[in-house]
Amino acid sequence: MRQDYFGRKRVLVTGGAGFIGSHLCERLLREGCEVVCVDNFFSGTRANVTHLLENRDFELIRHDVTFPLYVEVDEIYNLACPASPVHYQHDPVQTTKTSVHGAINLLGLAKRLDARIYQASTSEVYGDPTVHPQTEDYWGNVNPIGPRACYDEAKRCAETLFFDYRRQHGLGIKVARIFNTYGPRMHPRDGRVVSNFVMQALQGHPITLYGDGSQTRSFCYVDDLVEGSMRLMESPDGVTGPINLGNPAECTVLELAETVIRLTGSTSRIEYRPLPEDDPKQRRPDITRAREVLDWQPAVSLEDGLTRTVEYFRHVIAAGG
Ligand code: NAD
Ligand code: UDP
Ligand code: UDP
Repeated sequence: MRQDYFGRKRVLVTGGAGFIGSHLCERLLREGCEVVCVDNFFSGTRANVTHLLENRDFELIRHDVTFPLYVEVDEIYNLACPASPVHYQHDPVQTTKTSVHGAINLLGLAKRLDARIYQASTSEVYGDPTVHPQTEDYWGNVNPIGPRACYDEAKRCAETLFFDYRRQHGLGIKVARIFNTYGPRMHPRDGRVVSNFVMQALQGHPITLYGDGSQTRSFCYVDDLVEGSMRLMESPDGVTGPINLGNPAECTVLELAETVIRLTGSTSRIEYRPLPEDDPKQRRPDITRAREVLDWQPAVSLEDGLTRTVEYFRHVIAAGG
């Protein structure tokens, strides 16, 4: 263990100034860890972690994970990667580099330090799934040359690298397949469905529904996801994943729009737009493995989570965001 001078665990969080990463940094600090947060601020922002900067156990480093990184830590959470289609399709080549070169660099770091390493993989490895709900042994249905491929295929390649570093170098890997996660500090203009609908509803703008709204997703509140991720990191050595982390409560995108309109008391109307290419028709995690291995399941309902998220976006709008 490379614990610090005071005997605390040192934890690296890449993508730590992003939506999920900032919640993870906060939680790790609460648990008494020293946190090194690395981010290039592509889709995250310093504002997400400004409140942590005065904490002497928190360090923020501007760095792009496609370049080598030399720090001394006990554990690594690799979250660095734009996650919303708008962000990851903005510079698709860079997206692939971030997932693949980033994984290589961080696995090299983990190898040198003999540190445990967690990978934020994604339900997108299942593509437009033909198995429903998705279990971890389903190999997926991904278009390798479509507009989502830079994200999906690069995350798949990162999983390959994680398992090869395990087989070849005996690394302690923890691969989580994260399903749609939402909550405070989502980027207000990242184009994801929850941030879009809540911002639109609060501003009285039309709710942009893509397709006929019958496609499904399963939304997990960020606190639940952080809890599951930390349980995975703390699980016995033999537990490598991949393991689905998400909320199995499935709803159609139309139902989500109606719920957001009701919770915000909005007068917005629904405006139908074309469905983006390769948009998955259904998505719901089978979390049997997470229940059995991590004794984990989500605790926050969609209504409660959305209520907290709406509160956050009210503040963002009031602050001129
Ligand atoms: P986010 O965009 O808010 O966070 C990603 C962070 O990574 C940002 O702060 C961004 O600036 C940073 N980053 C991007 N490229 C980088 C690079 N080259 N070097 C250093 N930092 C870089 O998104 P999020 O929702 O918080 O997602 C976090 C992780 O979880 C991502 O890896 C994402 O793929 C994964 N994930 C998220 C979801 C979800 O629904 N939110 C679902 C599945 C997987
Ligand atoms: N690496 C890093 N930090 C470290 C150790 C390695 O960023 O502390 C990078 C290094 O630049 C290398 C990559 O991780 O390109 C993979 O390292 P590994 O030791 O697996 O492979 P090699 O160095 O033999 O290419
Ligand atoms: N979506 C929508 N309106 C929006 C944004 C997204 O109807 O303003 C739909 C999108 O087509 C998809 C679902 O909501 O079917 C989830 O989209 P998101 O980009 O949040 O995540 P992902 O498709 O990666 O699950």
